[in-house]
Amino acid sequence: DKIQHADITISAVSPSQYPDDGLTEIVLAGRSNVGKSTFINTMVNRKKLARTSGKPGKTRTLNFFNIENELFFVDVPGYGYAKVSNAEQNKWGRMMTDYFATREELALGILLVDFRHEPTDLDIQMYDLYKYYDIPVLIVATKADKIKKSKYNKHSSIIRKTLEIEPGDKLFTFSSMTREGRKEIWDEILTYVGD
Ligand code: GDP
Repeated sequence: DKIQHADITISAVSPSQYPDDGLTEIVLAGRSNVGKSTFINTMVNRKKLARTSGKPGKTRTLNFFNIENELFFVDVPGYGYAKVSNAEQNKWGRMMTDYFATREELALGILLVDFRHEPTDLDIQMYDLYKYYDIPVLIVATKADKIKKSKYNKHSSIIRKTLEIEPGDKLFTFSSMTREGRKEIWDEILTYVGD
């Protein structure tokens, strides 16, 4: 497929540091440990572009990954990590709403949920936040290799029902181990990126 590599990373602690080259942005949100870093690395065929878990502390930066000068993946700090203070959570919320409310480059919000589990209240809030700001949403259900194919429908429908996903919103299963879903998700993402 077309996109293979991501090169430049910008870690922004304030909006003045957000890139200004006007590329389309795809934002990625999900609970800590959902597999978001692994997802990003698999999508761009890099082992260590996004740092994988163990370090949920950094709650205040947006990481912009420039993908072949075509688009940015914007990685937002994972939520739901128990040890984060209320003050930190509020900062996170303000950073997200500032970004969502003002960012014209933002074309798509990806919400990652664990395919094995019922989405949490925070997942529901995240979905609703995208909806509130009229951001098109794509659901990615991670760690699909952990679920038998015969249970896919059941798990998909629990996720759809719990998030109250609107009928037009797409849900893709994904596994970094088998790379299931990678191509389909790229095809979908690229429909949001102008040439
Ligand atoms: P993050 O906190 O959302 O960035 O999560 P990570 O990408 O660090 O992944 C959290 C854990 O889930 C790690 O131990 C990964 O190896 C594991 N993981 C991530 N993706 C998959 C997957 O598709 N399948 C399986 N079985 N494990 C995964």
